Amino acid sequence: MTKFVELGLREAVLRAVEEGGYENMTPIQTQAIPNVLEGKDLIAVAQTGTGKTAAFSLPIIQMLLKGEGKRQAKVARSLILAPTRELAVQIAENIRAYAKYVHLRIALVYGGASAKPQIKSMMPGVDILIATPGRLLDLTNQRHIDLGQVEYLVLDEADRMLDMGFIRDIRKIIAYLPKKRQTLMFSATMPTSVEKLAASILYKPFRIDVAPEATTAEKVDQHVLMVPKSRKRDLLAHMLKDEAVKRVLVFTRTKHGANRVSKHLDRLGVASGAIHGNKSQNARQKALNEFRSGAIRALVATDVAARGIDVDGVTHVINFDLPNEPESYVHRIGRTARAGESGVSLSFCDHEERAYLRDIEKIIRQKIPLMTDHPYHAEGMASRPHAAEKEDASSRGNSRRRSNSGQHKPNQPKPGNSQRRRRPARQRSR
Ligand code: AMP
Repeated sequence: MTKFVELGLREAVLRAVEEGGYENMTPIQTQAIPNVLEGKDLIAVAQTGTGKTAAFSLPIIQMLLKGEGKRQAKVARSLILAPTRELAVQIAENIRAYAKYVHLRIALVYGGASAKPQIKSMMPGVDILIATPGRLLDLTNQRHIDLGQVEYLVLDEADRMLDMGFIRDIRKIIAYLPKKRQTLMFSATMPTSVEKLAASILYKPFRIDVAPEATTAEKVDQHVLMVPKSRKRDLLAHMLKDEAVKRVLVFTRTKHGANRVSKHLDRLGVASGAIHGNKSQNARQKALNEFRSGAIRALVATDVAARGIDVDGVTHVINFDLPNEPESYVHRIGRTARAGESGVSLSFCDHEERAYLRDIEKIIRQKIPLMTDHPYHAEGMASRPHAAEKEDASSRGNSRRRSNSGQHKPNQPKPGNSQRRRRPARQRSR
């Protein structure tokens, strides 16, 4: 089954899907939708860009329309949990589009904005509630919404929710839900913590693995540029002279770094915006909309803020700083080369970041080609040691997540690191 028309969805839902320009399903949709419609729990390893939102929304819309449950005041019939406001907003936009010809009430709840309108929107009852965990837990504790009749639960980007420390909130929210429900879980990676959560909240789940991380990494034309820290801004200015860099996502490690880079770009005359945790929801959404529409050419982001961002046509991802968690590299470069398009990633690596680079090359299992053809190339760094050649395999596993201190001692095991170890993408079991 490869076409949406073969799914037996309501005509009104199908019409909305067709209007969205979709006829053929993506692999995750082909695998997930029929199983979800049969009532099975699901666990899927899938990143943003695979079509996962439709994979869970369409069957839920269909089942809600068919279902016996009727809307009641302050009661939610289905719940979608997402780690960030941006992702929650994006999911809601998608669902509103798919449900535009049917009568379903959709509500959106997230932190960092006034709770009042959110409370009001839930009063008549909600068919599909999309929420970030913290705010939802508050509003549930205050009895603004009753989750005791939720029939369908989705956890989107479960790995990021756990990384962001939402596990306790999630468990408390789940304690409000009925035991008898259908649960769907999506995660870009499958560390032990996510597996553990899955084992405790899913019942005989159907498993899908559509986006092994290495696949994303293989599609992107990746380069690393060795550059002294003090010349990174100049290098950025130099790279942006290339007109092929049409829509560029620039990543920094810190919020301040993002602000500084964005200001620098503005001074250079490159229209840019910044998104990170210190920006208001409105400011973030505005920057995102401008980036999407092409009003600004560059968006500067931190990892958490950029998570789940769905913008088509990103031609370049620039890692102004290398991430200290190697998985973030894969998420970052996955923002480009989507839906069959090509994409380029340029990683600026200074002397202190070489250990990060080694960790990244280890998880993507390839050496990132070195670009020396730029005016700020740091000569002494060209013959950098390579992970596969220099480090002994047993010690490498201990350098998964590095501190930001710049004092990299990759061979020194850190306590507790073994729990954080994840198997390389290709060996990840289903
Ligand atoms: P997601 O993985 O849900 O973030 O979706 C990524 C992108 O794929 C979104 O821009 C969707 O509009 C788009 N999309 C979803 N389903 C399909 C499909 N069947 N064919 C083509 N694009 C799709």
